[in-house]
Amino acid sequence: MAVCPTDCFYKTDDGIVLHDKDLCIGCGYCLYACPFGAPQFPQQDAFGERGKMDKCTFCAGGPAESKEEEYEKYGSNRIAEGKLPLCAEMCSTKALLAGDAQDVADIFRQRVVHRGHKDGAWSNNPQASADNLAYDAAHKG
Ligand code: SF4
Ligand code: SF4
Repeated sequence: MAVCPTDCFYKTDDGIVLHDKDLCIGCGYCLYACPFGAPQFPQQDAFGERGKMDKCTFCAGGPAESKEEEYEKYGSNRIAEGKLPLCAEMCSTKALLAGDAQDVADIFRQRVVHRGHKDGAWSNNPQASADNLAYDAAHKG
């Protein structure tokens, strides 16, 4: 992330953006720069001290000397264990998905085809579904 004065952010081979809490000086620039609101200060004490920046790690941990240190600073590294991020694993309606971008895009495309989109994702409107099936067929070939 370009605004970070200490260059905390980096991308893993999987394309996951992580940050190094040891480098963070808590300036807060990333909080204002990120359009998704991903970086968040974890705490604020009586004197306005906010500590190190925190963010979703996609359950992929972060830089540390040991597993214990990684867990302490960044939580579980479920990706290293071959698991899904916990929120995606726990989501009862599977609104949250994680994985290969193409696979996730395919699942969403199938949902749109199945449920329709013109009258909302939960529509049972047969015309909307028919239109989507026609769209899907036209774009598959
Ligand atoms: S709060 Fe930390 S991670 Fe965010 S821009 Fe400042 S130094 Fe970088
Ligand atoms: S549970 Fe979800 S929101 Fe929390 S760190 Fe893991 S991926 Fe991010």
